[in-house]
Amino acid sequence: MAYPDFSAAQDCVSCGLCLPHCPTYREYPVEMASPRGRIQLMKGLHSGELAPGEALDEHLSLCLACRACETACPSAVKFGTLIESARVVLRQGRRGSWGQRLGDLFMRHVFPRQGRLASVAALMRLYQTSGLQRLLRETPFARLLPGRLGELESMMPETSEFGAMLGMAAEHEPFGAERGRVGFLSGCVMQLTMAATNSSSVDVLRFNGFRVFVPPAQRCCGALHLHNGYLPEARELARANIAAFEAAGVEAIVTNDAGCGITLMEYGMLVDVDPVWAARAAAFRARVRDIQEFLAERGLRPPSGRVAVRAVYDDPCHLLHGQKVKVQPRQLLRAIPGLELAEAPEADWCCGSAGIYNITHTEMSLAILRRKVDDLLSTQPDVVVTANPGCAFQLRYGLRRAGHDVPVLHVMDLLALAYRDEGAPPAIPPGLARKEPPV
Ligand code: SF4
Ligand code: SF4
Repeated sequence: MAYPDFSAAQDCVSCGLCLPHCPTYREYPVEMASPRGRIQLMKGLHSGELAPGEALDEHLSLCLACRACETACPSAVKFGTLIESARVVLRQGRRGSWGQRLGDLFMRHVFPRQGRLASVAALMRLYQTSGLQRLLRETPFARLLPGRLGELESMMPETSEFGAMLGMAAEHEPFGAERGRVGFLSGCVMQLTMAATNSSSVDVLRFNGFRVFVPPAQRCCGALHLHNGYLPEARELARANIAAFEAAGVEAIVTNDAGCGITLMEYGMLVDVDPVWAARAAAFRARVRDIQEFLAERGLRPPSGRVAVRAVYDDPCHLLHGQKVKVQPRQLLRAIPGLELAEAPEADWCCGSAGIYNITHTEMSLAILRRKVDDLLSTQPDVVVTANPGCAFQLRYGLRRAGHDVPVLHVMDLLALAYRDEGAPPAIPPGLARKEPPV
């Protein structure tokens, strides 16, 4: 299969059953903001009836690529492949505004080089820990920031500690008898912003008897590149990661990032122009697992430490709709003694993060986010749980914006608390008051 690939557009029978599941269509109910309308546009783009240009670009870039339409579609239309293909074609015809040139710079020269990305994150960390951020946020200075800078500043995710930015150790011993050897994708953004969650994830694997390898040669997975039409860069990163994990000699390649996971699973599509790489990608793909899926598949060793909280789980789109992983995170959370799991009515709807969508389409992103925050808060949670860094940043921002300080954690953070506190008093997630265990 050559990529970009528009063949899936032929499977659409225009039934419209996907429309009520599309977050952008719900906010903006016009055909061109719906999956069906977008498929028509992509057909036109592919056939040459529609020329690439700003209008087409705007309609198609308004899509979150959340893939809720894929789950809803009775004809199994692969919408994710279609929208990513369209973005490759549209990128080729784009004239560069200054914003696009800045985006190009980051995509081509910063994200693929972990050292450069870490330098940017270190500057952000300095800004956040020096008191400058607090000064800006708590005084009228924020209002003096030009253009959208104030808004972008308020969305800035917290960064990891400086030491963690240097990366993880290459090998981690299992706790107890060894059950297997797994590779772990530490992720470019994950390690720089949620290093504690990476440590939790590796610890949970170790508590379950796995020896964990974190290949130092691994690189950014290429998700942002693939979702935004940077095909050559995505291909280069795919090949680098396939080679890095081959060298590790592991039975499974595990990730705690839903967006990275779906991208690793699509490496075959990216490199199949070369038959040797296609075979290597197929072997790689067969070993990729989301960490929740992997633990449920291999059998979780139930933790005995208590985490007495009421939690609500929010499905990341790329885990739910992309990888069809829905029950496993909930199963793992229910295995934690003392944890009460609430279900939000719209847990399966996008939060509006979608990579850099919250920056490029802030208004739509915020409309979706407001609804999401109300939905989660309706369950009166002590903690919101998810399994993707982009969702975690977006939910933290949305809750903060709505005046709530409910912490947002990863499933692995809570599991790690339960394992680390085995035999100890009930564990509490950061930011929560300790609760008495039920009698
Ligand atoms: S994408 Fe699927 S659900 Fe949507 S209109 Fe086409 S066939 Fe129907
Ligand atoms: S991917 Fe999401 S936003 Fe895009 S058309 Fe499908 S449901 Fe709508």
